[in-house]
Amino acid sequence: MKSIKHKLFISYTITIFSILLLLSAVSIYFFKLNKEIKGMELIDSTYVKIEDLIYDKKNLNISELDKYLDFSNQFLIIFKNDQLIFSNQSRFKTLRILDKIQYEDEEKYEEFYDDGYIEIENYIFSLNVFEYKKEHYEIYLGLDEVYLEESLDDVYMIIVFLNIFIFLILTLLAYILINKTINPLKLILEELKSLEDSRDLSKRLKHIKTNDEFEQLINSLNKMLNNIENSVENIKQFSSDASHELRTPLTVIQGEIELIKNKDISKEQIKEVLLKVDNQQKKLQDIIKNFLLLSRLDKEALKQSKSSLDEVIFQAIEVNLDSLEKKSLELQLDIDENLEVFFEQKYLNIVINNLLSNAIKYTQEGYIKLKAKKEDKSIYFEIEDSGIGIKQQNLDKIFERFYRDDKVRTSSKDGIGLGLAIVKKICERFESKLEVKSQINKGSTFKVYFR
Ligand code: ADP
Repeated sequence: MKSIKHKLFISYTITIFSILLLLSAVSIYFFKLNKEIKGMELIDSTYVKIEDLIYDKKNLNISELDKYLDFSNQFLIIFKNDQLIFSNQSRFKTLRILDKIQYEDEEKYEEFYDDGYIEIENYIFSLNVFEYKKEHYEIYLGLDEVYLEESLDDVYMIIVFLNIFIFLILTLLAYILINKTINPLKLILEELKSLEDSRDLSKRLKHIKTNDEFEQLINSLNKMLNNIENSVENIKQFSSDASHELRTPLTVIQGEIELIKNKDISKEQIKEVLLKVDNQQKKLQDIIKNFLLLSRLDKEALKQSKSSLDEVIFQAIEVNLDSLEKKSLELQLDIDENLEVFFEQKYLNIVINNLLSNAIKYTQEGYIKLKAKKEDKSIYFEIEDSGIGIKQQNLDKIFERFYRDDKVRTSSKDGIGLGLAIVKKICERFESKLEVKSQINKGSTFKVYFR
């Protein structure tokens, strides 16, 4: 497996190399362009000088022209009235070149005469024709290509060495920079590895101050580890609570069965035992049903359908009517009609039913008030009772799984401490806000704000 450092380094190097290559190509192109321009300028200025000398120096001895001009690296041939009057090279070389000019340029002649250029041997030749005092002049001027190229060779070498130097410096810089950037990642990986080996969920990654994504990554990983630790703790707590809750009815059932085993007992006693066993098995069923509901709520996709809140409230009242009447509690209703809420009906039933049955369960006398209203476009449901109330410090705990107030737990009130946990979970999943207010011995109010 290749490391990120390795990959980054390769891509950096390729990028630096490509940029340098491109820069070199561009500079060579412009240099060549410059060289051509320089060459043209040299040719033009030499022509001007020669013409000036011919015009001004009346007694100019043409064979001494090279005294006035520097012809090194140039080939100059002058014809006057078709007579060769000057050449700065040997006669033999001059005639050979002239031959070639004629031969090579039969077709390109016009172009050549039109200030064009022609390459013969290692010279770039141009031609200038003019009349002066009825005399006809033809001047061939050749520039030494080798000389021009040689001057370029130096530039090529400079460019190559400069490139190698810049490439090495940039690569070294890239290496140092990449190392510096990647180092925190290495540290994070080492720490993660040691966490993995220790299997201790309470350990966290050491904070590294980098002011960049690595610091964010460490923070996020630590937050994730917090969440995982909390979840694992919750699961542990849940399974220990769940096994405890399941064990209680099972122990009761086992005790009852032991009681009648190997004993002669009357039909009446058997009936009594069976009733107790039936009660406990119903409790077991209840517990298991609620476990399943909670786990479904964690993973099931919910339907985003609408339900009629007022209808669901009246259904819940009907279901709980018996227990309401048994306790002779006064039921006060303030419920608007046609209250449509974004809530799947089966879950809305559970929320209203759990809150109403709790209110009845924890109220001995007095009233239960049910309110459902539309307020500033949002709909809420409120249930108030005049029951035993909840201590202020326990208000957060009542939504935890299996939490039951000590007083409630020791009393004979049935329940398993999952009702409000389920209500809270459902409200969260349907993005509804759940609030509670309570005063001990005065009563409690639960309020749901629907989305
Ligand atoms: P259960 O009712 O089965 O014990 P819940 O989750 O419904 O479980 O409620 C958790 C605890 O919150 C109850 O045991 C009780 O102590 C407290 N509680 C819930 N509703 C009320 C209420 N209306 N009045 C007083 N206490 C309540």
